[in-house]
Amino acid sequence: MPTYEFVCPAEHLTAHRSSITDIPVTIDCPECGIRARRVYGAPHLGRSSARGFAALERSARSAHEPEVVRGTHPGTTATARVTRNPLHQRLPRD
Ligand SMILES: [Zn+2]
Repeated sequence: MPTYEFVCPAEHLTAHRSSITDIPVTIDCPECGIRARRVYGAPHLGRSSARGFAALERSARSAHEPEVVRGTHPGTTATARVTRNPLHQRLPRD
């Protein structure tokens, strides 16, 4: 049976298990009793694997603390892409 999340105006987050054919639009918040509305989020796919869980954690963390890249990946070398198309010579340079 899937779990759905609900949040009340006081921002209490509640998990509620319900049949997929009988999903309530609102529930009573178990903490304050105010009607809580359903929160629609990303499905919890891939949480069963460690790699999927790590990717979700990294994605959520980067939303608040973006990682700064200061170089190329170790073991790779940066090479300049050379074009031989004469029309590219007219493109602006940095
Ligand atoms: Zn509440």
